[in-house]
Parts: sequence; structure tokens; C-alpha cells
Amino acid sequence: MSINARPILVIGGGIAGMTAAVEAAEVGHRVILVEKEAYLGGRVMRTHRYFPKMCPPACGFEINTRRLRQNSRITVHTLATVEEITGHAGNFKARIRVRPRYVTGTPSLDGAIADQLESERDNEFNLGLGRTKALYLPHEMAWPPLHVIDREALSDADAAKLQEACPAGAIDLDMADEELEVKVGAVVVATGWRPYDAARLDHLGYGRCANVVTNVMLERLAARDGPTGGKILRPSDGDPPRNVAFVQCAGSRDENHLPYCSAVCCMGSLKHVRYLREQDPEIRATVFYIDIRTTGRLEKFYQDMLDDEHVTFLKGKVAQVDEDAATGNLQLDVEDTLSRETLHPEFDLVVLATGIVPNTADQPLPGDLAYDEYGFVTGDGATAGVFAAGCATGPCDVSSATKEATGAALGAIQSMYGGD
Ligand SMILES: Cc1cc2nc3c(=O)[nH]c(=O)nc-3n(C[C@H](O)[C@H](O)[C@H](O)COP(=O)(O)OP(=O)(O)OC[C@H]3O[C@@H](n4cnc5c(N)ncnc54)[C@H](O)[C@@H]3O)c2cc1C
Repeated sequence: MSINARPILVIGGGIAGMTAAVEAAEVGHRVILVEKEAYLGGRVMRTHRYFPKMCPPACGFEINTRRLRQNSRITVHTLATVEEITGHAGNFKARIRVRPRYVTGTPSLDGAIADQLESERDNEFNLGLGRTKALYLPHEMAWPPLHVIDREALSDADAAKLQEACPAGAIDLDMADEELEVKVGAVVVATGWRPYDAARLDHLGYGRCANVVTNVMLERLAARDGPTGGKILRPSDGDPPRNVAFVQCAGSRDENHLPYCSAVCCMGSLKHVRYLREQDPEIRATVFYIDIRTTGRLEKFYQDMLDDEHVTFLKGKVAQVDEDAATGNLQLDVEDTLSRETLHPEFDLVVLATGIVPNTADQPLPGDLAYDEYGFVTGDGATAGVFAAGCATGPCDVSSATKEATGAALGAIQSMYGGD
């Protein structure tokens, strides 16, 4: 049974947005889900496995896409953004812009055609680690399971090749932006996060030293469908690392960068240590931290790791990372806060635990939304009829994001009925 109210507009199709959409739809509400990328799932899809259960992201994602596919009350627009929102609770008007995919979906396309192309682009799903053809599937689990064409990267010769090789109607290289206007009763903002720009952490060697990578890059290096087929290797020479440093709070809790704690980086790094220990039982890891923040049941993950003699926890903030040009190894400058000793240990790979920046930090959404000083959306219904969930409201893990999304869906539903 469908409830006869205006649909709920959900902006952002990560775990928070997908959850809000299916929860609202499963109690009978129509939902319009708008996602700016070509696929749903958000950042979680780029992790190799996710804590606390360490399952691959495909597990939860499959359940969510099944719920979504089975529910005719949900309309999904990928490659789409909301350009304008006007009106008030119960009666909003939103203008949505849908960018062209250039692949129609009907008839379906044989992805092997991409092998015939010369044109390539950076693989943004793998954070620029590696390239894809200009006709590509964003990732193995992509939903909708449709290829995309990067029109700018596609040469004229390859465009002609595709026109000839694809079944009639499968691609449309003249596809243009589409604008839709929808009337909705409430809005859920779930636009998530992006990693803090490590290029601003020159002192920690990112961009200067080949073997300094970020936590999000490590997820892709560990992933079976990532650039190294799931083997964590040093970017400089492709060798497996033997001795790895984790630099916690890389830019976080720092007035010059991100003053706040990103909540998940400690657990993220502990998880990464586990990836490495599973890859090589002899590997050594040292975690440089200010304090380890693993709350609630996540504390056990940390406590278990304290027993591992291959893993060292050293309380101290890393001040500088430099490269030995001959070996590509990294030397750290760090003060051991407990002994007050200055240390210069050497590692063959350094992983920076960069923090979480809201996607709305420099790109506020249309409409009258409230933000905190860092650009996170205040998700407390400060704007009547608008609710927010997940990392759009502050750094959080998947479990918190889904709970908040369920709350936001309920808030959105209640706001449409007004009063008591
Ligand atoms: C290194 C690292 C490892 C992590 N590992 C774990 C883990 O193991 N377990 C765990 O529980 N958590 C983990 N997290 C946290 C996890 O990534 C977040 O909890 C999760 O991504 C939050 O989901 P979200 O939907 O709020 O945001 P996102 O995943 O960022 O999804 C937001 C979606 O909104 C879309 N979007 C953005 N702007 C717009 C717009 N204007 N219009 C339309 N769409 C838009 C984005 O494209 C994206 O699809 C990790 C975080 C880090 C940094």
C-alpha cells in the first residue's frame, strides 16, 4: 500500500541515504533518491572490509540494493544533483539535474567492447590509482549495473569505434543534461564525506614521498578489485612492505587543518594493521597516536591487537616524514610523549590516517539548511521538513549512519503530517 503523501527527497545514495530511502519506502512512502555519482553505495563501497565484523561491503550493499529493487516506491537518479529547493515543510519543490551517462541500458552493452578503446581516464573509484577505459563500469558491484562513458576522455576515433561496435540504441553520445522538477514533502540530506586533502600535509610527506599513502588509498590497495588485485604493495617499487608506520590524526585535531576528531580513523588504522598482518604474518606495524579512540564494543578490537607482538603503539605526534631517495624508505621525526625522547625510526611504508570532511564544507546544498562551523549539516530538523543523516552531520561509522538515517526517515515522515 502506498501512502498518499508527497514523496521524500533523499540527497546522497551512500549507506545513510540508501537506508533512509528503503526505511521510508517500506512503510509506504514514495522516495526520490538523488546520487551524484554513477552508482549507489558511497564511500563504504571503497573499503576492502568494514568493521566491526570485517565483512566485505558487498554483504550489506546487496541486501540494500535488493530492498531497493523490490520497492517500486523508490525512484533513483544517479549522476544527479539537486540544483534548487524552494517551499516549506510538506510542500517543497526541487529541481534535479541529471548528467548524461551516454549508455542507455537498453539494449544492454557488452563491457568487453571497452577493451577495443585507446582512450583512458584516471580510475577515480580507486582514488586515481590506475586507469580505466573511457567506457567503464565504475566498480564490480556497481548499481545500477551500467557502464558510463567519460565523454571528455573519449577520442573521436574511439567514439566512431563505439558507434560501430555497440548494438543500435545501446549508447547515445549526444545525450545531454536533463532537468526534472519534483514536488516533495520532506528532504533527507545524506551527502556524506570526503577525505581531508593529504596534499596539504606536505610535512608528512604526501606527494613528496612515493611510499606515503593515505588510509583511504590503503583500502583500495587491500581490495581484491583494487589496483593491485588485493595485495598491499609499495607504490615506488611494487614490493610488499615489511615495516609499516600508521600516522594517526594526520591533519586531525589540529587547528591548522581539521580541529575535530574524525571518530573512525583509529578503528580504520587498526583494521588496516589487520589487513597487513593477514597478508604477511612477519610484517611489523607501528601506530603513532595522540590517544586511541575506540569506543564501546570496538574497544575489544584494540585490546586484542595490544597482545600482538608484531604491533607497537607509540604515543607521539609525527612532526615530519622524509624519504631516503635510494631505497624509497621513510624516516620519521617523532617525539615519544611518554619518554620525551625524539625518535627517527625508519619504515618502508607510511599510512596517513586523514580525517573526514563533509561534502557540504565548500559546496552547500540549495535551500535553507543550517551548517555547523565545519560545514556539517545540523541534522536536528532546524530547517522544518529537512533532516540529515550519516557523515553529512558529523564523522561516524556505518552503524551510527544507518541508525541516524532511520531516524531521519521517521522525522521526514512525521514532518509531513504536522503537529500531533
Ligand atoms: C579510512 C576509513 C575507513 C573506514 N572504515 C569503516 C569501517 O570499516 N566500518 C565502518 O563502520 N565505517 C568505516 N568508515 C566510515 C564510513 O566510511 C562512513 O560511516 C560511511 O561512509 C558513512 O556513509 P554516508 O552515507 O553518511 O556517507 P558516504 O559514504 O560519503 O555517502 C554519501 C553519498 O552522497 C553522495 N553525494 C555527495 N554529495 C552529493 C550531492 N550534492 N548530491 C547528490 N549526492 C551526493 C556521494 O556521492 C555518496 O554516494 C571508514 C572511514 C574511513 C575514513
